[in-house]
Amino acid sequence: MQLYNTLSRRLEPFEPAGPVVRLYVCGVTPYDTTHLGHARCYVVFDLLQRALRYYGHRVRYIQNITDIDDDILRKAREVGVPWDELGNRWLAVYRADVEALNLLPPAVWPRATREIPAMVEIAQALVARGHAYVREGHVYFRVRSAPDFGALCGWSRARMIARLREERFDPDDPRKEDPLDILMWQPSAPDEPAWPSPWGPGRPGWHIECTTMAYRHLGPTIDIHGGGEDLIFSHHESERVQAESFTGVRPFVRFWMYAGTVYFDGAKMSKSLGNLVLVRDLLRRYSADAVRLYLARCHYRQAFTWDEAQLAEAAALVEQLRRAAAVEQARTPALVGADPPADDPPVPRARLHDGPTAEYRARFEAALDADLDTPAAVELLAELASVIERGGAHAGEQAALLVELSEVLGLRLLDQPGTRWPDY
Ligand SMILES: [Zn+2]
Repeated sequence: MQLYNTLSRRLEPFEPAGPVVRLYVCGVTPYDTTHLGHARCYVVFDLLQRALRYYGHRVRYIQNITDIDDDILRKAREVGVPWDELGNRWLAVYRADVEALNLLPPAVWPRATREIPAMVEIAQALVARGHAYVREGHVYFRVRSAPDFGALCGWSRARMIARLREERFDPDDPRKEDPLDILMWQPSAPDEPAWPSPWGPGRPGWHIECTTMAYRHLGPTIDIHGGGEDLIFSHHESERVQAESFTGVRPFVRFWMYAGTVYFDGAKMSKSLGNLVLVRDLLRRYSADAVRLYLARCHYRQAFTWDEAQLAEAAALVEQLRRAAAVEQARTPALVGADPPADDPPVPRARLHDGPTAEYRARFEAALDADLDTPAAVELLAELASVIERGGAHAGEQAALLVELSEVLGLRLLDQPGTRWPDY
């Protein structure tokens, strides 16, 4: 597969560095409901994971839970609910939504609040090596000690500082040596939770949370790190330099991949603007297959604009695919499923129907190979369904292929069981 790597800004052939693809995707901060922007991002990386598994790769997928940060504390104050109760409440909603959308569960679903001693350890090591400094109970990463800080986003210093201000990461903090320095630890306010550290009780910064969870669950080198494109700066730029300075191993991430932003009437869909399309509401009126197909019809790097007419079209296409799939109920072996144990042999690729269907399989694979061109893959399925509906000697085999390839897109045309996520 050719995948676009944001760090190199070009398409590169993807092969994992080791026997298992190590995939990390930044997870939610559970303080509010799941909207289409979240669904788009997590469906994109679900499609990627399913494509990798289709090709026989074993995948170790980690998605974290940011259950302590400024947003969750701010929201808890606003609604007058304890921060941890708020987190658990919205995590239950998120889990129900991702299971409903048939998203493959991560191998580990780590919660930031359960990994804080490791964050402290990494911050301590960075201080000891001169990559970080302590001021009044705060610990900052010294960006000057990482000469390629900014290489991922490619932005000017002024643009980075402006973005920090937007993100409410105070570039004017007088304790900082440099406005770009990264907050790794801070004393907690009186009404905030606090954990012990050598610098006094406090809480971690957002970026060191992901540095730590990625390192602990995937090691010093990750094959693919994903997220929404708004995470490139400051989150991933910071996560990256902290990890590389801590481990001394470069690169921390071989491929950085981003899902494009979701828009509503020309504005970014976001909690702060309140222009949200909620996953819950969509799933009351449309099937999960319809929502997934709708999302898959836009290439993952493109901006996505909410358009209900297109969702209705996707729902109609799902109905057509289901009719075609029903031509033959014979099941092919499932190619995607739960995360396999690390010592499992790769899943052999099914080639059961390659005679009269080889052309369709080849075109489907060509679409996946072209930087996960799922719009082309969907068009191929639509074409295949039309061929099946016209009938012919090979309709049964073509229907079996249609079901198999639809599963690679996470569709359940034959009402296959959905996914179960771990406890949190
Ligand atoms: Zn993250």
